[in-house]
Amino acid sequence: MDNKYLLLTPGPLTTSSTVKKAMEFDYCTWDDDYKKITQSIRQSLLALADVNPSKYTAVPIQGSGTYGVESVISSVIPDSGTLLIAMNGAYGKRIGQMADVYGINHIDLVVDEQSPVLLSDVKSTIENHPEITHFAMIHCETTTGILNPIEDIVPWVHEKGIVTIVDAMSSFGGIPIDVSGINIDFLISSTNKCIQGVPGFAFVIAKKSILETTAGIARTLSLDLYDQYNEMEKNNGKWRFTSQRTLFTPLLKH
Ligand SMILES: *Cc1c(COP(=O)(O)O)cnc(C)c1O
Repeated sequence: MDNKYLLLTPGPLTTSSTVKKAMEFDYCTWDDDYKKITQSIRQSLLALADVNPSKYTAVPIQGSGTYGVESVISSVIPDSGTLLIAMNGAYGKRIGQMADVYGINHIDLVVDEQSPVLLSDVKSTIENHPEITHFAMIHCETTTGILNPIEDIVPWVHEKGIVTIVDAMSSFGGIPIDVSGINIDFLISSTNKCIQGVPGFAFVIAKKSILETTAGIARTLSLDLYDQYNEMEKNNGKWRFTSQRTLFTPLLKH
């Protein structure tokens, strides 16, 4: 079939011929050359996020973007924690579904789908609920295109000592995000949206000092974020389980 589509969706989108070409080689997940590529991708993601590699790490997770979000939600909030979720669209609601599946305590800040989430609403919710330990919000709510003001909200939430989680699936690589400046602890995105790779895995840009306190919290084996990080660090880029062919994109240098 020679028909070519031009995909202009938020993702998966059309990949360049150089990306397709790079995928012709049959790498094996466990080989040293593949592990080296994995390490270079992790470094490139940190460079793209413009964060200091001694403070942040990039952890790829097999699966689509949702798997990356679910990895964070299921791996970093202890049973004693409470998650505040800002929701103004389908992706915020999906985080609520995840919290339900894992029995994680959550408080939902539901905002009209046609409006951005505002700092004033987040402030009053947190002031009324001192039990909140974690906060999740969506950067670009892809379903409506609303760009939520993470730069107003996240620094204030961080100041309160609350761990911050941002789903930047359809913005990372497309819209500048000052990850460390605004103190995002966990930022999630995936291969097939703004960074223009093929679908296959998600990745988490995580603040190491927070990630390293989460060993043993995970409620699943395969989505265990800390364990994935630990294995890659200990074994020079080794994935715990078979990965999709690696991430070649025009935006990342290998
Ligand atoms: C696309 C998207 C997701 C889900 O990604 P999948 O790859 O479809 O699993 C989650 N959050 C946001 C903001 C998205 O745009």
